[in-house]
Amino acid sequence: MASENMVKRPEPQRGVLEIEPYVGGRASAEPGTRIFKLSANETPLGPSPRAKEAFAAAADKLHLYPDGGALGLREAIAARYGLNADRIVCGAGSDELLHLLAQAYLGEGDEAITTEHGFLVYPIVTKAAGATCVTVKETALHADVDAILDAVTPKTKIVFLANPNNPTGSYLPADEVRRLQQGLRPGILLILDAAYSEYVSRNDYEAGIELVATSENVVMTRTFSKIYGLAALRLGWMYAPAHIVDVVNRIRGPFNVSIPAIEAGIAAMADTDHVEAARQHNDKWLGWLSEEISKLGYEIVPSVGNFFLIRFPKEQGKTAKDADAFLMKRGLILRQMSSYGLPDCLRLSVGSEEANRLVVKALAEFADVKAAV
Ligand SMILES: *Cc1c(COP(=O)(O)O)cnc(C)c1O
Repeated sequence: MASENMVKRPEPQRGVLEIEPYVGGRASAEPGTRIFKLSANETPLGPSPRAKEAFAAAADKLHLYPDGGALGLREAIAARYGLNADRIVCGAGSDELLHLLAQAYLGEGDEAITTEHGFLVYPIVTKAAGATCVTVKETALHADVDAILDAVTPKTKIVFLANPNNPTGSYLPADEVRRLQQGLRPGILLILDAAYSEYVSRNDYEAGIELVATSENVVMTRTFSKIYGLAALRLGWMYAPAHIVDVVNRIRGPFNVSIPAIEAGIAAMADTDHVEAARQHNDKWLGWLSEEISKLGYEIVPSVGNFFLIRFPKEQGKTAKDADAFLMKRGLILRQMSSYGLPDCLRLSVGSEEANRLVVKALAEFADVKAAV
């Protein structure tokens, strides 16, 4: 082994330099064009006006440390979902909670499992903890419970499942998630990332509350970034067994959630009408967009979230990259999907009525341009 004296500069721990940095949805296009950012699954309705008021009022408290336990927020969440507030931990986005869980339960030599087109934060948090990420095949853009169970080894410590998944928009019904949990050793942590659960209206779907409540190895993570429209504030929460809450509370920053985030979060949770309006807007326009874009001859991947994939088959000479450039010129920013192993797709977030109509119009023009060549 090289002597410590030979090391010329500080080296990070194993795995860190293997991380592909996460690239978020772009926010800018041609200078001078009006832009519609449809690349990050943000809500076109914005946050509740009550959340904005609470945020503004928090300006008077900027010199104060927040309540490190975020008790008021945990109680608001608990009341809303019928949970025990002691089993909730809040974080600076669900991202932070995913990092903390990985840090606590993974180390060198351990494996975490994610799926082929799973959310790209999972390999990042896994490698950051020095562990190895094992990626398993999906079946028709759905997580495959049997493939996940087949990939389990004695080294497996965590299984990550976004349900519904981003970017595919597919979900696993509750009985499949339960089958997954039952097939895992009790020592393997199953993390159910339910960032889009508020958008799902399917009888066979459950976000994970039931499974967390009845087992010792399941955690559900949630976010205020999507339907609640508070992505800028970085606010998420998890619901977990008491022993996991205890572990995460030991390693998290003691003041990881700010006062403006706590207070806006409480107000957002109380405004159920606003959440309902966001859900209805999404139902209506997700359906409309899927139908109109299909009619233009593009393949749509059915989604239960507030986004979906559009496929641009190579044979038709309409590549996703060309489409992206074409839309970008019109101020319509979608998300390229090469990093998710879906280079022939773009992901579109449901936007405002105006943005949605412009996307359909632009895709119609793109289809014509290409057909004419
Ligand atoms: C957007 C998203 C999140 C939310 O992350 P935050 O850190 O809470 O903003 C979590 N998981 C998935 C799959 C997402 O797409």
